[in-house]
Amino acid sequence: MCRLITDLLDITSSKYPDKTAFIGQDRSITFAELSGEAYNIANCLIAKGHFRKPVLIYMEKSVSLVSSFLGVAYSGNFYTPADTKMPEERIRKILDTLDPATVITDKAHADHVRSIMGDRDILIFEDAVLHFPGPDRVREVHARMTDTDTLYVLFTSGSTGTPKGVIISHRAAVDFTDWISECYGFNETTVFANQAQLYFDLSLQDVFAPLRNGSTTVLIPNRLYASPVRVWKKIIEHKVNTLVWIPSMLSLFANLDVLAHVDRADLRTVLFCGEVMPVKQLNYWIRHYPDTVFANLYGPTECTEACTYYNIERPFGDDEVLPIGIPCSNTEAVVIADDGTQVTGHGVTGELCIGGICLSDGYYNDPEKTKASFIQNPFSVGDGLLYKTGDLVCYNGSGELVYVGRKDFQIKIRGYRVELGDIEAAVSTVEQVCYNCCLFDPSEEKIILVYSGDIDEQELKSALKNKLQDYMIPSEYRHRQQMLFNANGKIDREALAKEYII
Ligand code: AMP
Repeated sequence: MCRLITDLLDITSSKYPDKTAFIGQDRSITFAELSGEAYNIANCLIAKGHFRKPVLIYMEKSVSLVSSFLGVAYSGNFYTPADTKMPEERIRKILDTLDPATVITDKAHADHVRSIMGDRDILIFEDAVLHFPGPDRVREVHARMTDTDTLYVLFTSGSTGTPKGVIISHRAAVDFTDWISECYGFNETTVFANQAQLYFDLSLQDVFAPLRNGSTTVLIPNRLYASPVRVWKKIIEHKVNTLVWIPSMLSLFANLDVLAHVDRADLRTVLFCGEVMPVKQLNYWIRHYPDTVFANLYGPTECTEACTYYNIERPFGDDEVLPIGIPCSNTEAVVIADDGTQVTGHGVTGELCIGGICLSDGYYNDPEKTKASFIQNPFSVGDGLLYKTGDLVCYNGSGELVYVGRKDFQIKIRGYRVELGDIEAAVSTVEQVCYNCCLFDPSEEKIILVYSGDIDEQELKSALKNKLQDYMIPSEYRHRQQMLFNANGKIDREALAKEYII
C-alpha cells in the first residue's frame, strides 16, 4: 500500500485535530492548523505547475518551516531546507546542483533571498498560508504519487568542496518513522525536545513521529543550547519526555553537571545518534535517570537516519565502547573486508555497507558520486543495492556491530559531518595560499589547518568565513615556508599529523 508522509498527517489531523503538534519560539500549531497551512502552501505550488520538482526552503527552525516541508510534500514536489547561516558561496553551490523550481522563504528573509537568488521564483510563506483562492488540487496530485517519490534532498559535506544532495523517498521516511515509533513506543503522550537543526537527518523523528503518533515536538532554538539550563527549563515547562540528541549535546550537559542543578524531568527515552557517545558521559545520564530507556543509534544521512541500534541494557565501564548494535527492521548490514569477502566472524574489521528501504536514491544530479557509493550487493541474488558507509566496524562476541573508525577523511565535529577535503578545497580558492592540508585532532576536537603561502592566520580565517559554515572553519593554523610532500609527490598527511597532533 502506498503511504506518503502526508498520509500520516491526514490520519492524525482527523484523529487529534486540536492537539498541539509543534511548539516553536513564536507560536504553536495544532494538527488541524498544520494540515490547513500545508494544504494552502501545496495548492500555491500546484498552481505554479510544479510536480516532482525541487523546492528550496530558506527559514529559521520554526513551526512555519515544518508547515512548509509538509506543503511541499502535499504538492508532489520535494524540499531542501537551507541553513540560513550558510555563507553565500556555499548556498550558490547548492543552488547550482539543485536548481529549485521555487524558493519558499518568510518576510524576514525575503530581501536577503532575493539578493542571493536573483530572479528565481520566490514564494513568501506568510502569503502562501493564507486561504488559497483556487481549487483544492491536493487529492488530484496525491493520486499521481507513489511512495518511491522523493520527499526531500538534504545536503551534506562533499570531499571535493561541493555539497552532496542526499535524495530520500517518502517510503524511506515513513519506514524509519514506523520503526522508531514501534521500537520506542512513541504515541500521543510522547513529547520531544528537538535539538538538531531541521536540515539534518537527526531531526526526522522530531518532525515525522508527531504526524504518525499524535506526539508533540518542542522546537528549541539552537542558540539556547549554549545555555543548557535554559534548555532544561523548556523541557520542564513543556513536560518533555523524549530526547533524540547528538552525543556532543548530552556530553555538554554531563560535563557541566547540569542534571544535578535542575528540576527532575519525566524522561522516558533518551536516544543518541550521529557520533560516538562516550560512556563516561552516558553513565552520568544513567545515574541521574536509571529508569529511562537509553539507546545508541547509528546511521548516515544516506540511510535516512538510523539503520542500526543498540539498547543499553547492561552496565558499561567508562572505558568500554558501546556497540552500534543490530540492523533496524527492513535493513541489511553487510560488513565487507578489504579483500572483498563478507565478514561474519567476531573481531575482523571491514566496511559497513547498508541495504534496505532506508537507502537513499543517490546524490541529486551527481550520477558519478552515486555510482561510487551505492553498489550492487555482491552477496545477494537479487539486484539490491548497498550504501558504502566508509565506516569501519567489527562484530563483538555477541554478534553486535561495533564502530571502529573511518576509512577516509570524514570527521564529526560537534555532531556535524565534515569532509576535510571540503575545507581544503575552500582554502585552496584563497588566492595567496599555495598548499594546504587539514588535520583533525579527535582528542582536542579541533581542525588544524597546515598551509603555505603569503597570508597570515587572521586574513585566512576571515576569507574562510565567506566560504564555509562556522563549524568547518579550522581552529588552529600552522603556517609553513615549505609544505611536506611524500615520495609520490603528494602532501604528506601522515608526517604532518605526527608533527602537529600531539
Ligand atoms: P550523518 O550523515 O551526518 O548522519 O553522519 C553519518 C556518520 O556519522 C556515520 O557514517 C558515522 O561515521 C557517524 N555516526 C553516526 N552514528 C554514529 C554512532 N552511533 N557511533 C559512531 N559514529 C556514528
